[in-house]
Amino acid sequence: MNDNRVAIYKYKRGNEVVKKVVERANAFEHLPKNAKVIIKPNIVVWLNGPFPKWGVITTSAIMEETVILLKEYGINDISIAEGSLQINPEEKHIGQKSFEGLGYQKLQQRYGVKLLDVWERPFEKVEIADGLSLKVNTDLMASDFLVNLPVLKTHAQVKVSLGIKNLKGFLNVASRKKCHNANFEKGLEYMISCLPKFLPPSATIIDGIYTIERGPSFDGKSRKSDLVIASSNVLAADMVGAKVLGHDPCDISYFVQAAENQGLSIDLTDIEVLGEKIEEVAAFHQYTFPFNKDNTLPSSMEKMGIKGLKFHKYDSTLCTYCSPLIGKLLTIIAMSYKGEPFDDVEFLTGKRLKPSPGMKKSILVGQCMCALNKNHEGMQEIVKVKGCPPDPKEAAKAMKGIGIDVDPSFFSNFEMDGALMMKRYKDKSEFDESYYEIE
Ligand code: SF4
Repeated sequence: MNDNRVAIYKYKRGNEVVKKVVERANAFEHLPKNAKVIIKPNIVVWLNGPFPKWGVITTSAIMEETVILLKEYGINDISIAEGSLQINPEEKHIGQKSFEGLGYQKLQQRYGVKLLDVWERPFEKVEIADGLSLKVNTDLMASDFLVNLPVLKTHAQVKVSLGIKNLKGFLNVASRKKCHNANFEKGLEYMISCLPKFLPPSATIIDGIYTIERGPSFDGKSRKSDLVIASSNVLAADMVGAKVLGHDPCDISYFVQAAENQGLSIDLTDIEVLGEKIEEVAAFHQYTFPFNKDNTLPSSMEKMGIKGLKFHKYDSTLCTYCSPLIGKLLTIIAMSYKGEPFDDVEFLTGKRLKPSPGMKKSILVGQCMCALNKNHEGMQEIVKVKGCPPDPKEAAKAMKGIGIDVDPSFFSNFEMDGALMMKRYKDKSEFDESYYEIE
């Protein structure tokens, strides 16, 4: 049987599409009898309040069909495992709250599915390359089979986040940060390309009921796409998924590296695509918001006429724990701008950037930036926003120093952002919350 089969089906509720697409792709070809199975959705983030889940989180519709299908295959030991971003470090049991919010308790009651919050489970050390190891969730390592349920989405740093990228949700915090290291050769893309190495046999079912531009979180722009893609080969599924999102696998470095590891051709010639034709369902999804040509300011802010400010484009070294603050800083700057130029101020993020000559003030965001530039000897004033995630009080103080008054709670209130983003989808009937419920 060809491991490189990928099936693409249009999604329609009540039509057993998951069963059809899995069978067409033969995605369960390596599923052992009586297997201990882990299902990994993508619940990238969860808030205590309304926020757009479309194209951000795996739908409960696909999850329920997957559980039912596994039961039909005689599988009784099923666990759902996820380690969502701890957007607020004070928040406890966010995993169980997300499972409840998505209706998974009903799967627990009806089918005996276990619900595992990765943060409340142990990790074990796994070598992913010579001398390079990560701490991986032990439930995954003890399982016989993984059903990987990513969303068909774009990603601001690595262009697409599909099956391979979804595996990052099995890592502990230190390993996630390690993935965003500052090494040019073995940075984020290299680390992600190694993740399939710790996988048990698996099936990937990409949930494309909703897709998102400028993902992976709810500040992107969602679309209803009604697609499901499946394969027993995570890389093959991802390469087809990328094409459907309008991105060539050759332009995605971690695919190029993973294809080399697997001996798979990057141009899709080794892949048999069944069901819908890629060119008939593909639609270009922008993966990031544009910056000016020097990458020193988002284009939208340049168009507003903002002068005297550099907000250097984030790079792959910026981890998920810093990125929500970056969005908040950009928002508050844009909201507060009244036409007055800034006094040559710059913001630096991630783990590689150095203060630029000629600036009067350099604001270092996050403990990595502060540590990297602790001995900086330039003429400018250095302002540190320490912490990981960066301290909201220090962020507010830094903003005050450039004439923007903001309460520190602005930087930790993500519920407000979620509610605000929901307004974009108001009165658009295709954005239906019931895909995230189980009846
Ligand atoms: S400070 Fe930011 S870049 Fe550094 S480890 Fe923390 S989240 Fe990552």
